[in-house]
Amino acid sequence: MKDNFGREINYLRVSVTQRCNLNCLYCGSDSPDLAEMTADEISRYVKAFAQCGINKVRITGGEPLLRSDIIEIVSSLSKIQGIEKLVLTTNGVYLKKYACALKAAGLSAVNVSVDSLDRGKYKRLTGRDCLPQVMEGIDEAERAKLRLRVNAVLIRGQNEDQAGALIELAKNRRIDVRFIELMPFSDTGKNENMIVKGNEVLEKFSFLKPVQPKKTGFEQSVARYYEAEGFKGRIGLITPVSDKFCDNCNRIRLLSDGKVRPCLGHDDVVDLRGRSDEDLLETVKEAIISKPKGHEFNCGYGNIRAMNKIGG
Ligand code: SAM
Repeated sequence: MKDNFGREINYLRVSVTQRCNLNCLYCGSDSPDLAEMTADEISRYVKAFAQCGINKVRITGGEPLLRSDIIEIVSSLSKIQGIEKLVLTTNGVYLKKYACALKAAGLSAVNVSVDSLDRGKYKRLTGRDCLPQVMEGIDEAERAKLRLRVNAVLIRGQNEDQAGALIELAKNRRIDVRFIELMPFSDTGKNENMIVKGNEVLEKFSFLKPVQPKKTGFEQSVARYYEAEGFKGRIGLITPVSDKFCDNCNRIRLLSDGKVRPCLGHDDVVDLRGRSDEDLLETVKEAIISKPKGHEFNCGYGNIRAMNKIGG
């Protein structure tokens, strides 16, 4: 279904919890609201979105693998008519335990957030000494034949030196490694000097050559992709700060408390809870149609909630 600006909105990001087992420097540490949707609510709301043309769903959070019913959630969403692609974003700490069951339940891909391959730096950035578990989780996901991406946020003075090591992951394994510009969701994010812009990565790793972007289907992406000779995976840049991609944005968000947030960069939400089936469908349609034209991180972002609350 198209929004008011003619964009086809077909991608729903569902936050299933605000809770997280890490405390990342840039994510914000708002204490979580615990009014989480039940598995049945998630399924009911996603069905309404599917009726409005959503065909791709990403499960996120907080940390989605903290939900004890995560396999039930994945399994029910994978059976919804119209949902053709179901993927999940995780910090990977519990991925080893769940990878095979997630695949069996109908998940096709996982994005794993890894900001550093240096154990000490990882601990400083995330507050926990979990890098070995995360890497074991990535290995297990590969064995389970889940498509894999690694996402990293580079922060000046913290982990910008990790870019090369992270890029190496894409050399020998079929893993896409993507660098996301730091967004202003925490005190760290509001310090502009700490943002490592996408172009800086390109200047430093000049062997990266652009891949023609796909404009349709599941591969339509806010990331710009690059390849390098002999690499099995690609390198992606997601540049919400230096180069807004709102004209190509095809996504909408369902927060863990049952509210729809049409744009990451705007605080406006609409509540889906307590609605009849008919009202639910109309509300979802209205939320899609009224998606804002774009985000403005450089003004008025003071009230935007921490990323663990929005769902990354
Ligand atoms: N717990 C899961 C994880 O770690 O991937 C999912 C939630 S997390 C909020 C999703 C993504 O948001 C992570 O890749 C994280 O790096 C990213 N993120 C959080 N805060 C950010 C910020 N201020 N700027 C850019 N990316 C951010």
